[in-house]
Amino acid sequence: MDKITLGTRNVSVAFPGVKALSNVDFEISTGEIRALVGANGAGKSTLMKVLAGANPSYTGEVYENGQVVDIRTPLAAKRMGIQIVYQEVDTALIPTFTVAENVMLNETILHGRGMMNWHKINKQAREVLDRLQINVNVKTLVQNLSLAQKQMVLIARAIQSKCNFLLLDEPTAPLSDTETRELFMLVRHLRETENIAIVFISHRIGEVIQICDSYTVMRNGEIVDTTAITPETTSREIVEKMLGRSFSESFPKEETTIGDVVLEVDNLSGADGKVDGVSLHVRSGEIIGIAGLVGAGKSELCKTLFGAYKATGGSIRLHGKELRMKIPSHAVKNGLALVPEERRKEGVMVSENVAFNLSAASLRKHSVASFLNRPSINANAKRFVDDLGIVTPSITQVVKNLSGGNQQKVSVGKWLAADCSVYIFDEPTKGVDVGAKREIFHLINDIAKQGNAVIYASCENAEILSITDRVYVMFDGRVTAELVTKDTNEDEIMFYAVGSEHASA
Ligand code: ADP
Ligand code: MG
Repeated sequence: MDKITLGTRNVSVAFPGVKALSNVDFEISTGEIRALVGANGAGKSTLMKVLAGANPSYTGEVYENGQVVDIRTPLAAKRMGIQIVYQEVDTALIPTFTVAENVMLNETILHGRGMMNWHKINKQAREVLDRLQINVNVKTLVQNLSLAQKQMVLIARAIQSKCNFLLLDEPTAPLSDTETRELFMLVRHLRETENIAIVFISHRIGEVIQICDSYTVMRNGEIVDTTAITPETTSREIVEKMLGRSFSESFPKEETTIGDVVLEVDNLSGADGKVDGVSLHVRSGEIIGIAGLVGAGKSELCKTLFGAYKATGGSIRLHGKELRMKIPSHAVKNGLALVPEERRKEGVMVSENVAFNLSAASLRKHSVASFLNRPSINANAKRFVDDLGIVTPSITQVVKNLSGGNQQKVSVGKWLAADCSVYIFDEPTKGVDVGAKREIFHLINDIAKQGNAVIYASCENAEILSITDRVYVMFDGRVTAELVTKDTNEDEIMFYAVGSEHASA
């Protein structure tokens, strides 16, 4: 089998205000699997899009076997056997078509044959899936497939067309552990059976080391290194190259007064497997962080603690007493508050007014028999609007008319009114501006100062470092590290968040 080489020479791509790629020289040959790694925004997707003909405005040269080629359309790339699978699989599939129709889409629709030969389509699709050892019924509608199966259908489509170069842009990001393993097996199988080159973009560095032959690191639109993967290759060296520095810096934080353990979680599993054997504890006056990438299971953990997702194993003890939580109202009665990530859907009732929202978690306090006590609700609202500095023309304003930051304060205020002892915040600063962020931090600090226990889940490691006392890092539903905030830093959190290895403080 002849080796084919595809490369870029001096390729640059600029977007308004951003240099996405600067003079990139990248080369790959059939028969190898190359990992392409780098922090968010490093330029990985942009480079892949150049090779896939989806970035026609690049400058510099793309070459195949030393010959300069012009790849300015996806069709031009496909003709050269360059196939790309983007992370947003749904946009590339037709949900109401069968697996076979989607696998054979290029043949049937793009090549515009008059009559459909269904028998042949099904047969060819089945052959491709068998060849790849993908176990999916060709007659299933794509809309009924899991995300991982959809990825595989797209890979099958790529392979059944002319394919010398398969570019996979973060195929594993939304997948579970088991799904990821299946995809990895498929990629390995491809390497053994097909003479193609695969570029594999993934943040799962630990796993990348296992399937790729070499890795290329990008940082700020440039390639900083390309190295073969050997048994000596470590996640740490790759992460350090991604970040461009070693794990030396630390950010000291002020000491706080911390009391007894309030909430103790032992080996908790649930949320349909998205929470997997998590143990943690939080003390009175303490703020613990739950760090991890998107999809690591942080929200699922928060909701399982709160009882909104089903726990299937392990225990939760509050002030030493084991909780039996079946539905969220039990958690509330026990003194657990959750400020959820999707506040517009779950945290506040956007069509209700400020006063009603602020008393929603403590209605029993504001009712006599089954009648709501208006004066009590209004007094409660006035107090929290003042205390939290909620900017609203009046307490009867409908919440959807407030800014994001003020909606978030309402969402927090409703729990303060309910006198809880454990406060769980899930991405509380998402979508709020810098000013509101500072106020929310201030608020959370106050909650801890009053002797409450606080759990703070966030993807923003800098925020975690500035507000917490200890950090649990999650990867794939598990806790991969417990770190003391004053002794750690963003790099170290990142190191464990990509599943590099396990550690405990
Ligand atoms: P990565 O895939 O490594 O996360 P990208 O290639 O997506 O990085 O992005 C590289 C840089 O280019 C980022 O700063 C990103 O914001 C910017 N960028 C990417 N695509 C566009 C676009 N279509 N318009 C403007 N800026 C873009
Ligand atoms: Mg990308």
